[in-house]
Amino acid sequence: MANNIVNSLRKHVVLIGKTNSGKSTLFNALTGQDNAIVSETAGTTTDPVGKAMELLPFGPIFLVDTAGLGDTSDLGEERMKKTHIACRRGDAFLYVANSNDFDEDDYLAFAGKKRPHLLIFTEINTATDSAAIAAKPLTTDSPTTAQDSPTTMQDSQATTRERLFVAYPHALTFAENGDPIEIRSALSALLSELEPDDGYMIGDLIPYNSNVIFVIPVDSEAPKGRIILPQVQLLRECLDHGIRSYVVRDSELEDAIATLGEASIRLVVTDSQAFAYVNQIVPDSVQLTSFSILLARQKGNITQLLEGVDAFAHLPDGAKILMLEGCTHNHTHEDIGRVKIPKLLKEQTGKTFDFQFFSGYDFPSDLSPYAAAIQCGNCMINRREAFARLEELTAANIPVTNYGLMLAWVNGILERATELFR
Ligand code: SF4
Repeated sequence: MANNIVNSLRKHVVLIGKTNSGKSTLFNALTGQDNAIVSETAGTTTDPVGKAMELLPFGPIFLVDTAGLGDTSDLGEERMKKTHIACRRGDAFLYVANSNDFDEDDYLAFAGKKRPHLLIFTEINTATDSAAIAAKPLTTDSPTTAQDSPTTMQDSQATTRERLFVAYPHALTFAENGDPIEIRSALSALLSELEPDDGYMIGDLIPYNSNVIFVIPVDSEAPKGRIILPQVQLLRECLDHGIRSYVVRDSELEDAIATLGEASIRLVVTDSQAFAYVNQIVPDSVQLTSFSILLARQKGNITQLLEGVDAFAHLPDGAKILMLEGCTHNHTHEDIGRVKIPKLLKEQTGKTFDFQFFSGYDFPSDLSPYAAAIQCGNCMINRREAFARLEELTAANIPVTNYGLMLAWVNGILERATELFR
């Protein structure tokens, strides 16, 4: 059932536009529920609000309502930061503009970034010639959407409404209490046109009919009654590509290898925490990697993340390390990011680092204090967000790696664990 699809695997659609442009009303109309607070007062939406929904005929999406742009209230700066963060994960956007208060320059700046979007005018029935658009010259080279060609307006007596639609013929409208059926259908078409960019874990590397063993320790860290998302995702990818998967605990791995026969096994994928133990058991002729490293490949640039490991050997004592956890989870005494990696890094380098943690979609607006970054497998955040983070870290010249690669390095098996991609 589409409703079972985790949010990180859904296309994310972000509502953007000035405060009080009608974003939350549209968000509620699209989701069919009052998820976002709607008010006449500008800036009512503070934190971005998200809702998983089914958009027919496209399929499952995650819709995000934002506080909006141009917020001059006391909390405006904080809200704008959160809006900026929410935009990073957008696969597509709904740019919502009140037709009486259309900031064309802002829209053109947004459209110039070539992000897939729909332009939606609200309050079109009350549009007056005093609106900002009316002050614009009648001959315009404004794009209708990011992709469209310029349009020329001829009628000097045009009303604001006409001016808007001559300048932006592909714009849609939304009236409060209306059914956004046209917007749903246009959004569905827009999303269907996007290039598929889900990325692979191993589906493009391992031949059809190969044997792959999954090693999943069932210890105090394992969630009761289920297996975790990266393992489920890999299992599904193997099924999609006709790769035979065998799932065992670390304690049964040796038997499994003996039963299948070393020569018939193409790859062993282990939980990173069992790397050292599994490395001793898996014969040299069989390739070995971890679920977390495969996620690094699917949701990032594996070459960049691999290069990022090298930096950790040269960091000065006390260096600040940015730790990015894709979700807020219960932290235990065995937590990889908070306990194991800091301890193992100290043993490996002899240095004490200053680890600073950010969880979920939180991300520092100032990267200058950090000497390096380590991100988790990112199974709970979407691929676009994961790439946006890598881009920001690259722009700030901050080396970055991920939990799986780091654990392979401190266990002395980085080369073996990444041989598959070399
Ligand atoms: S911390 Fe990262 S890898 Fe672990 S469950 Fe959360 S998002 Fe997934």
